[in-house]
Amino acid sequence: MDKPKTVKVLKFYPEKCDGGLLCEKACSQVHFKTDEGGEKSAIRILKDGKTYKMHVCDHRGLCLDMCPVGALKRRKNGIVWLDKDTCIGCQACVGFCPISAMRKSEARIEPFKCISCGACVRACPNGALELVEVKIDDVKEVVYHKQGAE
Ligand code: SF4
Ligand code: SF4
Repeated sequence: MDKPKTVKVLKFYPEKCDGGLLCEKACSQVHFKTDEGGEKSAIRILKDGKTYKMHVCDHRGLCLDMCPVGALKRRKNGIVWLDKDTCIGCQACVGFCPISAMRKSEARIEPFKCISCGACVRACPNGALELVEVKIDDVKEVVYHKQGAE
């Protein structure tokens, strides 16, 4: 099978966000069947002065080779996927992720992350979130450039 070349990632329009956090609640439903948001959401919207910033996995996949049991894979549709049945809950990927996008909740031992399902996009009444298709190579390039530059 050919390796996936593109992946859908979340794009955030801070000027449209009112901080209502319906996206976080929707994501909690996906992962934990609750609308708590916060630590049970893979997306976090954080106050940044007078505006907001989004904090979520962009499927760059730097973690893929570091899981000791191979629980992290890139799926056919390009997304980085954590296989709960294989994961042993060592938390290595949580500590490793340079943008802290691998999340941990007290509710269970395995971490969780964005799966690009779009539930948060549909939940936002203001259109502040969008799933856009990008080239996986481009995401990686930006990351490596930033790491070198900083
Ligand atoms: S927490 Fe699970 S997915 Fe993450 S590195 Fe450990 S075994 Fe792999
Ligand atoms: S796309 Fe799905 S998994 Fe990703 S942050 Fe939105 S609701 Fe959560």
